[in-house]
Amino acid sequence: MNKRERLLKKLTEAWGPSGFESDVASIISEELAPVGKLSRDKLGSVIAVQEGRTKRGPRIMLAAHMDEVGFMVQQITKEGYLRFLALGGWSPRAMPSMRVLIRTHTGKDVVGVVGFKPPHELGPEERKKPIELKDLHIDVGAIDKYDVKKELGIRVGDPIAPVTQFVPMTNKEMYLAKAWDDRSGCALMVEAMQELAETKHPNTVIGVGTVQEEVGLRGAQTSGHAVKPDLALAIDVALARDTPGYREDTDCRMGAGAAILAYDSTMIPNLALRDLAVDVAEEEGIPYQVTTLRGGYDTGRIHIQREGVPSLALGVPTRYAHSTESVIHRKDYESALRLIVALVERLDRRTVDKVVTR
Ligand SMILES: [Zn+2]
Repeated sequence: MNKRERLLKKLTEAWGPSGFESDVASIISEELAPVGKLSRDKLGSVIAVQEGRTKRGPRIMLAAHMDEVGFMVQQITKEGYLRFLALGGWSPRAMPSMRVLIRTHTGKDVVGVVGFKPPHELGPEERKKPIELKDLHIDVGAIDKYDVKKELGIRVGDPIAPVTQFVPMTNKEMYLAKAWDDRSGCALMVEAMQELAETKHPNTVIGVGTVQEEVGLRGAQTSGHAVKPDLALAIDVALARDTPGYREDTDCRMGAGAAILAYDSTMIPNLALRDLAVDVAEEEGIPYQVTTLRGGYDTGRIHIQREGVPSLALGVPTRYAHSTESVIHRKDYESALRLIVALVERLDRRTVDKVVTR
């Protein structure tokens, strides 16, 4: 495993549902400490400020969210099973037989599994019924007279996240892991900050690991306020639509390059900035694809801070987002990194002013 793969492994295997991002924050802080001045906002987002060659350059915010979609204990049944609610957007179809870790107030993690009736036991009506979250439970080893509250310290409100391992697939171009949304963005932000530290970029770059994106872009709101950016990029996943069940002439496929978001449900990007990203990709020969998303990114909140912040979302396509096993393409990651670094290097005061006034 090379250095990048070790970083991707660390970040994707980290436990961090929305509101409980401190493990991820520690990893990011450690990576960014040598290349930026670190602070935290009061919701927990990590902020790293890196000066370029001029103090008067524009402030460029690179936002990547640290949280992953997870769950929370809603009720402990008298038999010792856990009812749970979702933190972020989940399809209940992706949940049965998922292995999870519940973090208790003692700081100890408890392993559990989302239980599922074997097919032998499903009646004909039950087989046809869609799976609903309210009918699912987590099993932490419940059995007669085993008091999960006392023995394991589990309480209502305890956060839960899936557990899986990062692996390069047998086709070595592909990486399989949980939480590419948005640990791929966290890794890209970290690597971009590390690369930019070596160059004399004409601006101040502020790398931010945001909290609580999946429950409504909440960390983006507070950190966007704290950072006061002149321009912002959200680094996040796009949805690859090249698997069975999609149209053949899809707009977003694995291996076709960095994804530039022309639209999402929370923002119409600054058009001059969008075009600049496309121009930079063309000029530098960086593979890219322009795509759209029903859903939101951190820039959805950042671009409406104060009098407005020109913003754009970009990143890598992923298959099977918001599940325990998602996939990204090594080359898309490389393309996204090259594009972010090349774009930031172009963002001097004149360019940013032009983007604003177009
Ligand atoms: Zn995301």
